[in-house]
Amino acid sequence: AHTPVAHGDSEALATLHRVFGYDSFRGEQEAVIEHVVAGGDAVVLMPTGGGKSLCYQIPSLVRPGTGIVVSPLIALMQDQVDALRALGVRAGFMNSTQDFDERRVVEAEFLAGELDLLYLAPERLRLDSTLDLLSRGKIALFAIDEAHCVSQWGHDFRPDYLALSLLGERWPDVPRVALTATATRATHEELTQRLHMPTARHFVASFDRPNIQYRIVPKADPKKQLLAFLREEHAGDAGIVYCLSRKSVEATADFLTRNGIEAVPYHAGLDAGTRAAHQSRFLREEGLVVVATIAFGMGIDKPDVRFVAHLDLPKSVEGYYQETGRAGRDGLPSTAWMAYGLNDVIQQRKLIQSSEGDEAFRRRAAAHLDAMLALCESARCRRGQLLAYFGQDPDAADCGNCDTCLTPPETWDGTVAAQKVLSTVVRLQRERGQKFGAVQIVDILMGKRTAKVIQFDHDQLSVFGIGEDLTEGEWRGVVRQLLAQGLLAVEGDYGTLVLTEASGSVLRREREVPLRKEPKKAVTSRSASSA
Ligand code: ADP
Ligand code: ZN
Repeated sequence: AHTPVAHGDSEALATLHRVFGYDSFRGEQEAVIEHVVAGGDAVVLMPTGGGKSLCYQIPSLVRPGTGIVVSPLIALMQDQVDALRALGVRAGFMNSTQDFDERRVVEAEFLAGELDLLYLAPERLRLDSTLDLLSRGKIALFAIDEAHCVSQWGHDFRPDYLALSLLGERWPDVPRVALTATATRATHEELTQRLHMPTARHFVASFDRPNIQYRIVPKADPKKQLLAFLREEHAGDAGIVYCLSRKSVEATADFLTRNGIEAVPYHAGLDAGTRAAHQSRFLREEGLVVVATIAFGMGIDKPDVRFVAHLDLPKSVEGYYQETGRAGRDGLPSTAWMAYGLNDVIQQRKLIQSSEGDEAFRRRAAAHLDAMLALCESARCRRGQLLAYFGQDPDAADCGNCDTCLTPPETWDGTVAAQKVLSTVVRLQRERGQKFGAVQIVDILMGKRTAKVIQFDHDQLSVFGIGEDLTEGEWRGVVRQLLAQGLLAVEGDYGTLVLTEASGSVLRREREVPLRKEPKKAVTSRSASSA
């Protein structure tokens, strides 16, 4: 904002060279910047690491006035502003971490026209005092970062974002840029509508991250599997391990440390100081592993994250894509690795059932989970599936850089196996009025006389021992896939298995049940390259 606008885009290019030291724009950046500099509204969908920041930073520098950046990432504002200041950009922020005096300084700078960029948390924008301040200064543009947070359909809804629709009414002449890395059609439409940006131009970058290798392995002993994966493929590399619960975050970080891998925990239960310290170590040090709940990583700009590992199933494909997207922002080969098993399906289904949300919320959560399960159980190229989910056509039918491409899984006709599982559930329910979980069902099928089998006389059932042809792992795989396909459901807090409406068609032999064969051995890059 300190340089007068001469000719729109050449001014932008000059700013890219002079301020940021880059040679050229990437992908859609130039088109977005040109459009916004000229005063247009824009919706920008770009994957993590795609370079969204320049799409509003450069127009803020080129247009007269201050660029107001709305971001939910309070913890990162200080870092972002420091990084910009180091480049000579006059940047400031206002959030709850500041005291009164610090805020007064920023306010004065803004009013004096001495700021190119001002970062604000969305809850601050709702305050009359903030709106009043903004109307007394000159605004170059509004940038709404992480704009998917306005969408209730999405996975990261923040009520404060709803108030952002007023920006367009209050400042009709100030261009707005909404940016996000989440791009399903539903989120996209909801975002445009909720932010009242019907005339915005849409810029959609490719969501493919060709340098990330996607792999989903069957979960057996997840901590040990993780350790083997790290030792074999990512010794000394920085990476993020995601777990669902704080407890497993702590246990996993501990386990890795005891086994010679430097790892620190990160979750909302740690105090702010510890969290900040672990985050800054991760950004600064070279080979640190952060074990975290999903609270970690949003907006983290560390280019050389070599792997993202999931020990628990993400709740949605959007979440999975965002989390895995934190790997390999420098474009070098990286791995997205996940261990996934029967208990993940049961646990997530239970979580949805016991959630406080209304019926509509539950239906949405179930739809999100189903899409995630379909990705896990797919025998097709994972990348192709991911891109298709985001409404994009993959460049090739097979990417050659995911586990299903490297070692195509075999499928088999699981109709009879499915019937055996389902009839066991039926027998228990109809003949005994009982409901049991997966462990008991598999024990019955395999003819195991465990204490619990004896206790309930389950060795007297006609289905006892009819499943000796498959291993325990294979049976768990069958149950898991039946759950994933909606042919079996979870009920109650104990994870008991019950039939669904669709189960009948299998029991009546009206349909076949193709299943994915459980791989004997997990794929590694090593076994893949020798294949
Ligand atoms: P996003 O917000 O989309 O995740 P960022 O804006 O943080 O991505 O950019 C990701 C990385 O790419 C940053 O390190 C940034 O400096 C770099 N980058 C962005 N645009 C360019 C460019 N035109 N040339 C070189 N590097 C770029
Ligand atoms: Zn593939």
